[in-house]
Order: sequence, then C-alpha cells, then structure tokens
Amino acid sequence: MKSIYVPQSKLAQVKGVLKQFNKLLHTNGVSQLQYEISKPLVRDWYVTERNWVENKWVDSGIKKKVKLHKIDIEHMLVDIEGLSPVAFLNSKVSDFSDLLNEPVSCLSIAFKEKVLTPKELAIVFDENRYVICSHCNSHRKRDKAFVLSDNDGQKISYGASCVNAISGHSVVRIAKWCGYFMHLFDDMLKELSQLSRIVELGKKKGSTESVDVELFVSAVHSFVGDGKAFMSAKKPLPTYKRAMSAIDNEYNFRHSKLFIRFSAWVKKSKPKTQFHKKARFAFLEAEKVGVFEAKAAIIAALYNSFLQTVEYDFQVELAEGFYSGLVTVRSVEHSHKINHVVLRDPFGRLFSAEVSLNFPIGRLLLITGVISGIDRENGFPIYKLIELEEHQF
Ligand SMILES: [Zn+2]
Repeated sequence: MKSIYVPQSKLAQVKGVLKQFNKLLHTNGVSQLQYEISKPLVRDWYVTERNWVENKWVDSGIKKKVKLHKIDIEHMLVDIEGLSPVAFLNSKVSDFSDLLNEPVSCLSIAFKEKVLTPKELAIVFDENRYVICSHCNSHRKRDKAFVLSDNDGQKISYGASCVNAISGHSVVRIAKWCGYFMHLFDDMLKELSQLSRIVELGKKKGSTESVDVELFVSAVHSFVGDGKAFMSAKKPLPTYKRAMSAIDNEYNFRHSKLFIRFSAWVKKSKPKTQFHKKARFAFLEAEKVGVFEAKAAIIAALYNSFLQTVEYDFQVELAEGFYSGLVTVRSVEHSHKINHVVLRDPFGRLFSAEVSLNFPIGRLLLITGVISGIDRENGFPIYKLIELEEHQF
C-alpha cells in the first residue's frame, strides 16, 4: 500500500488523475487500484510563496496549517519467495543459434528500462532448449517463464505456472503490471506530488510584469519536450501562449533540466539570421528582467530550435536489432492502405511503424519487431520499427 497526503484544495484534481489511471488499467484488462480517502485533517504543509522581488518571481517554501486528506492506495505487489521479477518471456516466438545452441531472441518483456541481455535469456533454457524451473527443479517443454533476481543480483528462472501458484496473480497480470503499469504508477505518484503543491502568488501579475525566465522555459519544455510538436505564434494555440497561461494558472512544472544548457547555448551562439539575433537579445534581456508577454513568442521559438540541436540524454538508448516488449499506441495516421503508428514504452521511448492493421489509441500491445534506425525529432529519438508483430501472452 502507498499513502499520500493531498491538500483539500487539490483533492478533485488528484481524484481525476486516479480515475484516469484506473480507466487505463480497465481498458487494458488489469484490475483497478483501490483507494481510500480519509476525512480532512489539519497538518503542517509546505506552501510555495511566489513573490515579485527585484523584477522577477522568486519562490520560497513556507510552513502553513493546511487541511489535508490521506489517500491509501492499494497497488499490486509481486512477491515470489523474496525474489524480484526481472522479465517475462514466451519461447513460442524465439530464435536459437544452431551453432552455439543459445537463444538469440525471444518474445519477452523486460521489467526494467534495460532490455534483456542474451545472457539473461540463456539462463532460462537448458541444452535441449527446454525451459528451466528452479522452483520445482524441472526442465520441461514449456513456453512461459519468468526471470527472477535475488538480493545479490543472481538471476534464476521459474516456470510461469509456479510463479502463478506462489504469487496468486495470473501470469498476464504480473507481466502487464511489472512490464508496464507499475512504471506508469510511479510516474503518476510523482505527478500527484507535483499537483499537491500549493503555490500562492504574493502579488498579482499585471500586463506590464514579467515571469521568471527559468519558469517560462520549464513551462515551454512541458509543451514541446519529449517529441511533442511546437506551435508557432501563427498557429491558433501557440506554445508560448499555452506556457504563459499555464503559469498564470499556477500549474507546477517539472524544473527543466536543460535550462542551464540552453542558457549556455544561447550565450555561445553566433546568430546568423535576423531571427536568432533578435531572439538571442530577447533571451539575454529576459535573464535580467524576466519574460514579458511581447517577447514570449520569440523566446519559445528559440528554445524550440535549441531542442532540435541537442541530442536527448536518455538514460538507456536502444540499439538497432531485435526488440520485444509492451507498448501502447500513442497516435495513428492513416494514409492509403497503410497506418502510420507511434508507439510508446513505459519509459517514454517512442517507436514509429507502418502497419496494415488498425490499432486503437491507448491500446497495450505485446510486440516484437526490428529496430532499423533512429529518427530524431526535436533531438528526441524515435525508433523505426519494421517487421512489427503483435503477440498474445
Ligand atoms: Zn516450477
């Protein structure tokens, strides 16, 4: 169970996020989270006070008495005799090297960001290519198994039916939760803690006042980062306006990790075009006095062009070659008889593929494919998948 505290003023928003998460679980055949909300209790809580000091907004944390609700969230814990699950695999879709008699690839779901190594795959099979179960000490011609890890990182393999019997959870449920939704659950908890922040504006922003440049860049990043599309000032809902209005509405952003790099990049750059010259000047000024509405569009555009030049620092990048795992359908574009789909894994990695099948948006898929190359959009990697196939568990 996970317990979180939420200010009463944020309860409706938090409930909305939980509901949406449960809907996602439900449509993908995973049982929903149960949660219980306590009666309000008054406790000390850190409130952010945002004050206008020397031409810019400055945040400070202040302890205040706030009405809070405690929410207990019941989530799935997979305990297999003290071992933690590392991966699920189904050897029905596998490829062995005849020369070495070792598995080369296998339909599988890694439960961590790193993909399964051939070594981890190899511990599941014996020399007859039978699946090993270290729980009941058997080598059988079974398809499904879990790779488990003990406290020392030692990996062993258990047959899926033994894991089912020990944990009391179905194989599909464990695979879906550990391979996908558990990671989204962690992300959701972070989002809820962001949502639960209270920001009080010390002084209302008028039309002649500006917002802190770092806050503005973080807001812009939340709309264009992770490969999201930039909307120029000419579009109906330009990115800079969305960022400004989000700041007005006291939405809390994750601090943009790229701000320092962005600032250094601007200072180092030697502008060649009129746009860069103007934008660079606007940014340098904004560092001193904040971002005024009139300069917001050009600074947002400059940040977007910066994003296109940086290579994203991903914790784990995928290599070209065989890929297998759980993804959801993020977008679908139809053209002629081909559907162009964008898929997303639980770590935010994006894949693009062309398929003849029609996948509904939001659907969870167990796939295999071959990564044939990497496109970079806004500097963000998108893996090109070919030979995409959907599989059953
Ligand atoms: Zn067994």
